Amino acid sequence: MKTGFVNIFGLPNAGKSTLLNALVGEKLAIVSPKVQTTRHRIKAILNEKGYQIILSDTPGIIEPRYKLQERMMQAVKSSLEDADLALLMVDVSADFEESHKVFETLRLRVPAIVILNKTDKLRDASILGKAEAFFRAQPYCRRVITLSALRKKGVDGLIPAILEYLPEGEPYYDSEDLTDMPTRFFVGEMIREKVFQLYEQEIPYHTAVLVQEFKEKPGIIHIRADVIVHRESQKMILLGEKGSMIKKLGTLARQDIEAFLGSKVFLELFVKVRPDWRSNDTHLKEYGYN
Ligand code: GDP
Ligand code: MG
Repeated sequence: MKTGFVNIFGLPNAGKSTLLNALVGEKLAIVSPKVQTTRHRIKAILNEKGYQIILSDTPGIIEPRYKLQERMMQAVKSSLEDADLALLMVDVSADFEESHKVFETLRLRVPAIVILNKTDKLRDASILGKAEAFFRAQPYCRRVITLSALRKKGVDGLIPAILEYLPEGEPYYDSEDLTDMPTRFFVGEMIREKVFQLYEQEIPYHTAVLVQEFKEKPGIIHIRADVIVHRESQKMILLGEKGSMIKKLGTLARQDIEAFLGSKVFLELFVKVRPDWRSNDTHLKEYGYN
């Protein structure tokens, strides 16, 4: 069994999400949950006979800001180095040296496959050969694969290439276990995480989050969640002056959820008081603490 973590990296618009969708297709076991470990942000797991590939792009970390913030690059780098393999994605119809400059600054220590994407868009076929030769000569590059994620051309050939760089081992995840964890559970966890970031003292420990509604509409996902506390006074703190804190919470959580789901999200939060929910079995079960 080959099994491992594969992170996709590339400039905005390189086609990372499109590739992920193309790879996953109907083989998708589960999309987007954040596993409780902080090590990996899971986007998709490819479970097939003989392998389990855990794919993740680097959501929201670098996309708009990689040029500005060195520290963010460090975060990206460490997330890439948590992986067994990096896929460095290039829009070959754009200036590929620009991608190279960013890849170079990563100083990767994990093997990387360079993916030249959007081959369907190339007017001048000789560019592909030039790009291939260019990347092959780079120290971070083990291999170059050309494909069109959008047209799903060459995508199947990527799997065997990925497998070459993954170790043998037991699968990290049981797909059946994972399907027991609905997306809404992870969405709730992301909201709860922000409660921990924004509020002090006992508040986070007295807060539960329950996702009441999760509706996929064209282009947007509507999510309604209850943020549950013990006491009226805690509700006031959660809301903040004129609702300023809950607004902040909503914005931060929404950004994370959007990055994980790869979709625009409309997030509604309602703060509710449930006295002593932590000692109430029914409530505990309802909030997913079995
Ligand atoms: P990301 O920012 O790296 O995740 O890029 P996306 O996957 O969102 O793709 C950015 C844009 O490039 C979208 O409009 C895609 O449809 C387009 N795109 C992705 N892959 C290809 C491809 O192979 N060929 C063409 N022509 N367009 C592509
Ligand atoms: Mg994307």
